[in-house]
Amino acid sequence: MEQDVLRIEYRLQVEEGEPLVGCIVPSLWVNDECVSEGFVVDLRNLVATLKGSGEYEIVTCSCGEPGCAGIWQGIIVFHYYDLIRWLIPVPISKPFEPDENEQERIITFKDRYFRKEDYSRVISSAIAEAKRLALQNADSIRAAPHGFSVQDLLDMRIS
Ligand SMILES: [Zn+2]
Repeated sequence: MEQDVLRIEYRLQVEEGEPLVGCIVPSLWVNDECVSEGFVVDLRNLVATLKGSGEYEIVTCSCGEPGCAGIWQGIIVFHYYDLIRWLIPVPISKPFEPDENEQERIITFKDRYFRKEDYSRVISSAIAEAKRLALQNADSIRAAPHGFSVQDLLDMRIS
């Protein structure tokens, strides 16, 4: 079976105000397609996917509440023997329309497969890179989404 490629990239987004503060903004890529375009990646939930199958709110609003960004369906993760499967909702975000009923909210998914070994490695190095950025920029950095601090990031452990 052909494998898909997961990648996490970072940019430092400088925010307005005095003193200048940078924000560590991760983006999530699958096969060179950005899954998190316009949203925020919650590294805690990404790391949590290593533990087992389930639905994970990996992509969220900068405030930490996915529904605020019209994200109603998380990424569904399955663990198989040596594979991780992702069902990625398409579109990932859908603005809420109050008169919509459940039947009209049908979501389709992109089906993606990663080798478990590669998957764990990509996530561990992504966390290591975020910590490196945080330490390098010490007092002038924050993390996203809201409620996830640089200290929370530095305290993250991957077992
Ligand atoms: Zn929000």
